[in-house]
Amino acid sequence: MEIRENLQRIEEQIGEACTRAGRDRREVTLVAVSKTKPVDMLRSAYEAGARQFGENKVQELTSKIPQLPSDISWHMIGHLQTNKVRQILGKTCLIHSADSIRLVREIEKESARQEQTTDILLEVNVAREESKFGFFLEEVEEALYIMKDFPHVKVRGLMTIAPFVSNAQQNRPVFRKLYQFYVDVKSKNIDNVTMDILSMGMTGDFQVAIEEGATMVRVGTGIFGAR
Ligand SMILES: *Cc1c(COP(=O)(O)O)cnc(C)c1O
Repeated sequence: MEIRENLQRIEEQIGEACTRAGRDRREVTLVAVSKTKPVDMLRSAYEAGARQFGENKVQELTSKIPQLPSDISWHMIGHLQTNKVRQILGKTCLIHSADSIRLVREIEKESARQEQTTDILLEVNVAREESKFGFFLEEVEEALYIMKDFPHVKVRGLMTIAPFVSNAQQNRPVFRKLYQFYVDVKSKNIDNVTMDILSMGMTGDFQVAIEEGATMVRVGTGIFGAR
C-alpha cells in the first residue's frame, strides 16, 4: 500500500539527514501525525511498523485509541484546553503542546489527583508568529523555574512549529536557535526538567530540523497524504 511506501521513503530521508549531520539514526523518533485520517489508514501505518502516532484533538484521540492496538504510543500535539486535560491524562506518552503556565498548572493538578506523572514538552513560538500558540523563547526559562515545583509534571524538552515556508532552508535559523537554547537550558540542570526531547520538523522541513538537532519529527502529509 501507499502508506507503507510513504513510510519507507520518510525513513530513508530521516536516515540521509542523520548521515549528513553525523548523527545516529536512533537519536530521532518519527511520530506519524494521523489527525483527520480514518482508523483504517492508521492501521496500515501500524502494519508497516509505525508505533508512535500524533493527534491534535482530544475528542479524535480518545475515540481512536480503543480502536487500535494497545502497543501504540500516542502523542498529543495540538493546543489543549485546560478543561480537557482530565480526558487525556494517562492516555498519551507525551504532550508536545504545553503552551502556557496555566495549562501546565492544570496538568500538575490533575496528574496529582490521578496519582501519576505526566511528560510534557513546552511549545515555543520561536518566530513569534501571531497566529501561533506557545511561549516566546525569552519566557521559557522563567516558566521552567516555576514548573520545577510541579512534582507530577516532568518537562522532557521543547517543541516548535516552524513557519510555513516554500523552502525548508528558510526554517534552518529557527531550528538552530531552538537547539542552542535547548542545549543551554539542559546544562542548567533545573530540577524536574530533563531536556532530552526536541520536537521539531514536519513534512516540509523535517530533514533540516534533523540536521539542526531535532530528536523527534512529526510527519503527517508525507505519510498519510494531504488533508
Ligand atoms: C498537523 C501537524 C503536523 C504534521 O504536519 P504535516 O505538514 O502534515 O507533516 C506536525 N505538528 C503539528 C503540531 C501539527 O498540528
